[in-house]
Parts: sequence; C-alpha cells; structure tokens
Amino acid sequence: MNENCLKSDVKSMSQEDLKKLQLELLKKQVNRVYEKSRFYREKFDKVGLKPSDIKSLKDITKIPPTSREELEQNFINILTVPHSEIATIRLSSGTTGHPLRIAHTKKDIEMIAEASARRLIYHGATKNDVVQITSAYGLWQGAWSMHWGAEKIGACVIPVGPADSERQILLIKQFGTTILYAATNYHFRLVEVAKVLGDDLSKYNLTTAFCVAEKPTGAQIAFLKKECGYQRVISDYGATEFPGFSVNCAEDEDVHHVWADFYLVEVVDPETHEPLDEGEKGELVITSLQREAIPLIRYLSRDITEYIGFEKCACGLSHPKISAEIDREDSMTKIRGVTIFPSHIEFLLSNFPGLTGKCQILVDKRTPRHETTLRVETNNTLPVGAEEPLKSNIIAEVKNRVGITFNEVVFIASGQLENKYKKVVVTR
Ligand SMILES: [Zn+2]
Repeated sequence: MNENCLKSDVKSMSQEDLKKLQLELLKKQVNRVYEKSRFYREKFDKVGLKPSDIKSLKDITKIPPTSREELEQNFINILTVPHSEIATIRLSSGTTGHPLRIAHTKKDIEMIAEASARRLIYHGATKNDVVQITSAYGLWQGAWSMHWGAEKIGACVIPVGPADSERQILLIKQFGTTILYAATNYHFRLVEVAKVLGDDLSKYNLTTAFCVAEKPTGAQIAFLKKECGYQRVISDYGATEFPGFSVNCAEDEDVHHVWADFYLVEVVDPETHEPLDEGEKGELVITSLQREAIPLIRYLSRDITEYIGFEKCACGLSHPKISAEIDREDSMTKIRGVTIFPSHIEFLLSNFPGLTGKCQILVDKRTPRHETTLRVETNNTLPVGAEEPLKSNIIAEVKNRVGITFNEVVFIASGQLENKYKKVVVTR
C-alpha cells in the first residue's frame, strides 16, 4: 500500500500543514507541466509566466484557466507522458465535436484508488464489507473509482454494473451486500421493485448507500434509511475529469471535503473568471496536484458551488469544504430521448453573429411532447426583421448538429437571462 494512503496523518492534518503540502505539490506540478506539456507551456509563455513565479498558493491565479473545450481539443498536447505509459483511457461526450479524453498512468490509478479507499474508510467501511456496484463501468469513471477503492481496503467487490433490478436484489441477498453504489434514482427503483416482489430490503445486510449523480434530499435520505436499513446515505461527487476528488462530510450532508493533497480548489466568477472569496458562490476551478497523464491546471469545472474553506470540521477533517449543493452549469439532459449538453448548443450559437453564445434550455414536462424553448442571449445588435430568419437558422442548425428540434427560440437581451447559471430549467 502506498505510504501516504489512509494514514491518519493525512486525514487529520491541520489546515497549516495541508496548505504547506499543497504549495509544495503545486510548485512541483507546475514545473512538471511546464516541462512536459506543450499545451501548458504555451499557456504560460503567452502571459509571460514562469513556474518559478508560483511562490504561494495565491499565485495560482496568475495562471490562465483551462476550459473543457481546450481539454477536448488538446489531448495530445496536454499529455505529459509517452503513450507507452498510459494505463487506461476514459471518454465522455465532447461538446465541440471532439470527445473528452482523459488518460491515467498506473500512478494516477493508484491515486484514484487511494482517494476512493479513504472515502470508504472515512465512512466506516472495512475489509469485511461487500460492495455492490450497479453503475456502468465502460468508459465512465465512477464505477471504476469505487471498485479500485473497495479493492484497496480489501473489501469484497461485486462488479455487477447495470443489470435487471430483480437480479441486483438477488445479489444483495445472496452475497450479503453491505455497501450499495448506485445512481440516486436507482436506489429508489430498487426499493420499488423489492416491494413489487413482496421483499423488504431492510431485512438484509445493507449499511451504506452511495448516491451517484444527484444529491439526495433530506427526505430521500430518511426514506432510504427506513426502507433499506441504511445507517449512512452518502452523496458522491466527482467527474471523469477529476476522479478521486472529495468525500461527503459525515457530520453535514450538505458539504463535501476536497482531498487537499490531491486537488486544489478555487471558486471564480463564471463570466469574468475573477477569484471569489470564501463563502461566495461561483464556478469551481480545479487543479490536480499529483495527476500525471492529464494534469488539470485551473480547470473550469462548470459546476457552480460555494467554497467554504479549510476550517476544521466537526467530523475531524481539515480538508477544505465545498457546498454539496452543486448546480451543474453544463448539466447533461435528455429531451425526447436525445442527450443534450447546453455547452454544445452554446458552441453552435457562438458562430451566429449577433449572439453572445449563452443560452438556457426550458423543458416543459407537463406537456405530452415535452415542449422545449431555447432562450438565446443577443448582444443587442440584431437588426429589425432579422429575428425570424435567425430563429429558423438556429432551429435548423441545432436540429442538424444535436438532433433535437426546439419548439421555440426566444431572444433575450445581453445580461437579462434570469437565473443565468441554470442552463436547463425543467418544469414538471
Ligand atoms: Zn466534515
């Protein structure tokens, strides 16, 4: 086992020591990417920045941020290792016509396993646990992270992946599953199916639920505890780009602790990218401090949350906190069976003169066909009579490139988009 894994000193390190460690790791990482990644070297050179200019944690703001589009389009140039050192690759839908590719070296995998193992141990897991994973493996990261972490602590892993719900329930019984890793909605589906079968999940050995994708509400947590006998219902936050990121606080379900030795976080204004103070809500910016193959340096996550800071928590961790109320600015959504990323539509809109590229998608699920409206921000220069043809062109372009026909396009003057950080508004 890697020596800095799971050691109580990493878990209980003080704020000062964690900051010291972060600075040391940041300097190392910045030097490394400048030397080995063409993409980052060019980024630094463009603003006349040298790795030696990073002398404090605050100096990180001197580095220009990296967008998801840049990550999608520059895989080869960001890569800091030769292909022979890549151990595995992950992929998710791109928003610019390129898929998002993330590579991991063996050391990266070890880091993700460590972070995931720590998260399990923090929530009371031991080698005696039986961990059933119901999420898809494949090219997504979540199931793999849980798998690697559970293996590392010596637990028994049941790597089911997506399967028939009756089968999942049968396995819970047969193997005495204690920890169930599933999409939040799927936990409820299993309760429903068990009821139809005349079964009762609270009779079995379940102790811990990890809820993926959506944060469960207080009422949902209480429901799952009652129906399944869980002692803990934990929300799981992360993404393919930043695996092994955080752990849901055991004392406050509305907070995640970010593993400070693996990731450095900031919150910035989503539009100007100016740093915001602790306690302010903004876009989460992530720097990976130890990743090798595809390091993230000031990566704009598109997730909107609040940075609460390093203050020591009642749970005993000093690792910095972020609010678990996270709005995915680029929340993937399915409309009439078509998967949509708002950023893909924004990318298309940015090619139209007169538009800022910003938009908001409204879906009315009360209507039988789930009527959709695309609210499009203009830069106030639309000439009279230009709106109607532009609407038709936008609808045609989005249909052609994304595969969905919007029922309506509404133009909104620059700065007037209500609740602008919410890219998808669903009315039920
Ligand atoms: Zn805590």
